[in-house]
Amino acid sequence: MKTANVLIIAEHDHQNISLATRKAVTAAASLRCFSSDLSIHILVVGFQCGCVAQQAAELTDIDKVLLVDDVCYQHGLAENVSKVIKDLASNYSHIFMSSSTSGKDLLPRVSAMLCIEQLSDVMEFTGLDSVVRPIYAGNATVEVKSCEALMVATIRSASFEPCGISEQHAEQEMLKISHPLTHTQFVSMQTSNHERPDLTTARVVVAGGRGVASKDGFLLIEQLADTLHGAVGASRAAVDAGFVPNDYQIGQTGKIIAPDLYIAIGISGAIQHIAGIKDAKVIVAINSDPDANIFSYADYGLVGDLFELIPHFIQQCE
Ligand SMILES: Cc1cc2nc3c(=O)[nH]c(=O)nc-3n(C[C@H](O)[C@H](O)[C@H](O)COP(=O)(O)OP(=O)(O)OC[C@H]3O[C@@H](n4cnc5c(N)ncnc54)[C@H](O)[C@@H]3O)c2cc1C
Repeated sequence: MKTANVLIIAEHDHQNISLATRKAVTAAASLRCFSSDLSIHILVVGFQCGCVAQQAAELTDIDKVLLVDDVCYQHGLAENVSKVIKDLASNYSHIFMSSSTSGKDLLPRVSAMLCIEQLSDVMEFTGLDSVVRPIYAGNATVEVKSCEALMVATIRSASFEPCGISEQHAEQEMLKISHPLTHTQFVSMQTSNHERPDLTTARVVVAGGRGVASKDGFLLIEQLADTLHGAVGASRAAVDAGFVPNDYQIGQTGKIIAPDLYIAIGISGAIQHIAGIKDAKVIVAINSDPDANIFSYADYGLVGDLFELIPHFIQQCE
């Protein structure tokens, strides 16, 4: 493989760079054990997002920031942002983005445009061209080697710590690349508008399952989360029952999280749910069934009725 040059695609909201991007930087920097002259560039694509480029320049391990700022990227749609990455791809040996909703939208598109097989959910690099990633809903890991000249990979945020902030600022280069949308037009966007921490990066997550029984029951989960300054999550059963919106879902087909503290309430612990919480540092389970599978994974378990226990819990925490 040629000298390693990594391009990280920054995820941002036009104001702030995401924590998941900082984790992708840590992942890229881990390749320095295999190539001491590895250089790491970060690409910021958007509109009026110079402040994001500035934040990117302050991240440790970044050698250069590439900024593509044009009104045609104001909605950050994969349809045209992918074309920018394709234009730049030939300068790089690795292209990374976090395994977030945006990364899962953008990088497969880039891979297809470049006729390259993408590696998903990288947990560790074992060489410049080899990685460890989860299979079977996170129940096993596999080491795979990329045979492509360019590795395009999404990075599993739960496996890496965020990179630090440096006193030394990386060089910034403004690129003039414009790909106006042609086949797709932006119509509208709906976002969940809550003040709690982001589920994927929160230090504390309180989640409810089918056992919470109703939308009103979830108020108790939210109250506990607020007391602990945490995020609210849910099992798929709770989402399917309409207790909470689907961006709360944790698990194989939801979000993969790695908080310091995860509290599972009225959740049985199906393998698809466990796939999303395995990396939590401390797991607490509250369930009325002493044989619930969640207790096999919990550091602390409380057997009992959540509607009796949680109010006591909240009272103790306040
Ligand atoms: C392809 C596929 C992908 C999937 N992806 C996901 C995923 O990403 N995330 C996910 O979560 N699931 C996923 N699932 C679904 C998963 O298999 C389970 O069905 C789901 O996780 C169950 O949710 P639950 O634990 O809330 O519900 P249940 O399994 O019904 O458990 C409810 C629990 O609440 C307890 N309980 C009831 N009342 C009380 C009370 N008053 N106090 C205390 N405890 C109480 C019960 O003892 C029980 O253990 C997926 C399934 C498939 C097939």
